[in-house]
Amino acid sequence: MTGAFAGFFLCHCARCRKDTGSAYAANLFAPGAMIDWLAGKDGVTTFRLTGTRHQRAFCSACGSALPSATETGAIVVPAGSLDTPVDRRPDAHICFASRAEWDEHLEDAPKLDGLPG
Ligand SMILES: [Zn+2]
Repeated sequence: MTGAFAGFFLCHCARCRKDTGSAYAANLFAPGAMIDWLAGKDGVTTFRLTGTRHQRAFCSACGSALPSATETGAIVVPAGSLDTPVDRRPDAHICFASRAEWDEHLEDAPKLDGLPG
């Protein structure tokens, strides 16, 4: 990818929760960036929800989230998809009022280095 990240947002909207199956989507935004797949381009599947700005790209071989280009000319990169370190902290939680009812004080939950039990 060529271009720089200009935003890093944790989106709690219902669509992003459905997309990720989690409390929020963690996406980096790079306006005006370009992406050039070095390998596996044929396996990139993009789902765009009609009538919304929501889309997600994933690998048709393993299901992993992948970067995608928006209609407005930005590249959206799921932060967890990167193999390289992310050199910035999230800018904000967004659509926070739409969060799941269990998404409150998650930082207080016990932190395990492995699986429970
Ligand atoms: Zn969202």
